[in-house]
Amino acid sequence: MQEFRGRKIFDGIAVGRIFFYSREQKKVVRRRITDAEAELARFEEAKRTARGQLETLYDKALKQINRRDAQIFHTHLLMLDDYDLNDAIVNMVKNRRVNAEYAVAITGDNFAARFENMEDEYFKSRSIDIRDVTERILDALMGGENDIALDAQSIIAAADLTPSETLQMDKEKVLAFVTDKGSANSHTAILARALNVPAVAGIKASGEWNEKMAIIDGYEALFILEPDEETLEKYRKKQEDEKARIRLLDEYKGRKTVTKNKKRIDLYANAGSLDDIDAAVRNDAEGIGLFRTEFIFLESESEPTEEQQFDIYMHAARKMAGKKVIIRTLDIGADKQPSYTDMEKEANPAMGCRGVRLCLTRTEMFKTQLRAIFRACAYGNIAIMYPMITSVDEVRAVKRIAEEVKEELRQSSITYGEAEQGIMIETPAAALISDMLAKEADFFSIGTNDLAQYTLAMDRQNSELEKFFDPHHEALMRLIKMTVKNAHDRGIWVGICGELAADTSLTRKLINMGVDELSVAAGMVLPIRKETAMCEYTPD
Ligand code: PEP
Ligand code: MG
Repeated sequence: MQEFRGRKIFDGIAVGRIFFYSREQKKVVRRRITDAEAELARFEEAKRTARGQLETLYDKALKQINRRDAQIFHTHLLMLDDYDLNDAIVNMVKNRRVNAEYAVAITGDNFAARFENMEDEYFKSRSIDIRDVTERILDALMGGENDIALDAQSIIAAADLTPSETLQMDKEKVLAFVTDKGSANSHTAILARALNVPAVAGIKASGEWNEKMAIIDGYEALFILEPDEETLEKYRKKQEDEKARIRLLDEYKGRKTVTKNKKRIDLYANAGSLDDIDAAVRNDAEGIGLFRTEFIFLESESEPTEEQQFDIYMHAARKMAGKKVIIRTLDIGADKQPSYTDMEKEANPAMGCRGVRLCLTRTEMFKTQLRAIFRACAYGNIAIMYPMITSVDEVRAVKRIAEEVKEELRQSSITYGEAEQGIMIETPAAALISDMLAKEADFFSIGTNDLAQYTLAMDRQNSELEKFFDPHHEALMRLIKMTVKNAHDRGIWVGICGELAADTSLTRKLINMGVDELSVAAGMVLPIRKETAMCEYTPD
């Protein structure tokens, strides 16, 4: 028995035999060619084949995973036509008179290495996409494709997995993933989440492990090779307990969220796409407490039109069938920036022109979004929420614009609906003047992710700071308490939509502070309902 500790990718426990997957290394030989045009025609033909395959994979991913993650294959289609990549290959064929296979393999390696050496984890993990795309062109040039045929349920072990490799696997037969490379952004992670199977990275798998028994404990990022009987028994028991826990959670479906002594809480889910809304419905969320609209903007190559946005917001409202959907207006900023908003680069983006500041700077973009939201209001129970508020003037300014938008819709006889307008309390300034803000807003939603970042003066993205970052810090608790009191004194409701809402160790405390609503990731709705049911409400 051997134990390895890796990096945590996705929770869960799996016990089973290993299927070791190794990508067949293609032997690419360098040939001298005389007819460069003919060689480039072969390259173009291979790209055409690759394009056809990617379009099929995109459709498959749409059906099997979800729209957001299927975008990987759309990105690959774009990479296929990437100017720099193509230019380097064509130049190599023309100037060095080498065969297309060689030019593709060398250029692919160079580009992938360039990404691999980047500091940023996200870009680092994109090197696998370059390899995937260039391998695909090579397959088309040389014939053949790697096939991943699983004949039994298996733990998949590999150095790394490309998106197309992961998608080729029979989902019913994947018990878990263990890879060497990979991060929370990797395709393995995305698939593990979509299939709901445990995954651990940072484990150097070897061919000798094939068919051997193993255990993956995704909670502890632990991989156990050839476990002894006692360990196997222990983990089989853990697996049973986990299944029982999930069954138990299912019992909370269809119930109200109430404490032992019947204090009612609204338990909503956070969403970033229509797929997330489906997950919210599956997990019995009572509404959507935070619809992050920035993903619609970040995933698009040009600014989403009013019609495109209206379609999404309207479907979100319809899917929730009368339950509340709180749409947060655009919260992009200098670091989360779509290519089409030519904003200046900022030295300190977290404190830059983001959230409501951007909306008040780019009013046309903001008004288009508000038009789409108010039109969608006619189709369900939508509320609007403004992010990154720091002053009363900002709230008045956004509400003035909202009135203008409604007036324009009215003048043009376009159907629209009314909406509650709330604000996010995610800056210390907003919490400290929440008594004043409560006179302007219909509700508050506390964004504890940013509120913690700005209160503790610690970058929420910086993993080096994890050991200093205390999400239960007394300063944060006092700001939450103050916000709740000020909201209630003015007769408005207050929720929490940051990660703290899903922290079961705080549920009792937050409920006793008087928080009216909690909005959490879809998968946390039932655990929080269960936790609430075990709490006694004793107001502070
Ligand atoms: C927050 O800041 O807590 C929040 C919910 O917003 P986001 O995480 O999108 O910044
Ligand atoms: Mg925030």
